[in-house]
Amino acid sequence: MNNPTVLVVEDDSSVRNLIMTTLHAHQYGYLTAENGERAILEVTSRNPDVIMLDLGLPDIDGVEIIKKVRTWSEVPIIVISARGEDSDKITALDAGADDYLTKPFSVDELLARLRVVQRRLARSAAENAPAFANGPLEIDYEAGIVRVAGDEVSLTPGEFKLLCLFAQNVGKVLTHTYITDKIWGNSLETDVATLRVFMASLRRKIETDPAQPKIFQTHIGIGYRMNRL
Ligand code: CA
Repeated sequence: MNNPTVLVVEDDSSVRNLIMTTLHAHQYGYLTAENGERAILEVTSRNPDVIMLDLGLPDIDGVEIIKKVRTWSEVPIIVISARGEDSDKITALDAGADDYLTKPFSVDELLARLRVVQRRLARSAAENAPAFANGPLEIDYEAGIVRVAGDEVSLTPGEFKLLCLFAQNVGKVLTHTYITDKIWGNSLETDVATLRVFMASLRRKIETDPAQPKIFQTHIGIGYRMNRL
């Protein structure tokens, strides 16, 4: 797969230049936009493969841009936000963003986030497959069978549902609200506590070494991600 073209939406020229320099050095194509209006125009006219979106723009709120883009496009969106603004990240993820970077971020973090969405793009062809495989983890959706390193694992229906939700969103950070809403149809505070219990039990069954989880990543105060192994 060719490296994707990244649309960089950021009004701060120093951050924008850092991202552009990094993308250029690593053979990514890139487009830039300094505000939300320009961003929407670039998305519609140039069809980028990935969007990196600063949430604090001078004209349109970043979350509004995500909602707008999501009405017609599933293009991966990585939001860029300031440190400590967890509620902004959560709102952006719930609006359909895939991932986030917190300022100040390193070049390595930036490239790592891009690799995750690239893998997501690469696997989209296999999306409707009856089975799922990720590292040692295998799911046969129709038979309802889960295997880890070839051994069948016994899951409760709730755990199976939760695992399938992550499998359908590999590489994407899922917020507590998103998960509880999909699994239980609502998102009360108590459900977040229940989710924590479910995740702990799922990890014990799925992770080869639950003390050093590789499949599930915890984003404290935000949610969880299933890593692509
Ligand atoms: Ca900004």
